[in-house]
Amino acid sequence: MNIVLLGAPGAGKGTQAAKLVEEFGFAHVSTGDILRAAVKNGTELGLKAKSYMDAGDLVPDQLIIDLMNERFQQPDCAEGVLLDGFPRTTAQAVALDDMLARMNRPLDAALLVDVPGEVIIGRALNRRVCKDCGYVGTAADAACPKCSGEMYQRTDDTEDTVRNRLDVYEKSTSPLIDYYRGKGVLKTVDGDRPVDVVFADMKALLGL
Ligand code: AMP
Repeated sequence: MNIVLLGAPGAGKGTQAAKLVEEFGFAHVSTGDILRAAVKNGTELGLKAKSYMDAGDLVPDQLIIDLMNERFQQPDCAEGVLLDGFPRTTAQAVALDDMLARMNRPLDAALLVDVPGEVIIGRALNRRVCKDCGYVGTAADAACPKCSGEMYQRTDDTEDTVRNRLDVYEKSTSPLIDYYRGKGVLKTVDGDRPVDVVFADMKALLGL
């Protein structure tokens, strides 16, 4: 299956993606994770992306499209992908359509994890991520409950940056809701509920 996860930053896409991967073994492709690794490793991509990420702005489309073209070539993507954080603009969505068409693969679903803006801000400020395994938890997790790794706060989870990321989402990414509705693949889940309840609904919507 090829699935796009849509939703504001902090809606819980990463958390739900990790659960889908654990249960069904999808290739999880998170542009945010790839970019953060590139920044950490000081690669050319990382150097180009860092200032946009720190401000909560989008990294330019062409960098992301090149990155995804490359990522799709890797063997783990052959069976299908779970896209988390991509596409984020109409140009990226059109590029994704082209990539999938070239590989003769359909987009099975665009799943919107729907959470109100006020809830998002509170969640993002409370979010902590494991340095070792990427587990997404909260400020209440002194250490990672999965691997005991150190939890840290993403540098783009400050209030100003979160507000900017939400504005960017509204302006650049939310038009994709209509884009995918028009293609007949949009499915929406109410993401303002406990993780496992959202997950159960997501599986039902995806027919899993
Ligand atoms: P995320 O982890 O998905 O919240 O992404 C963190 C940051 O990486 C975003 O705020 C953007 O600066 C950048 N980013 C991630 N995915 C994309 C994308 N598809 N297009 C542009 N920028 C992106």
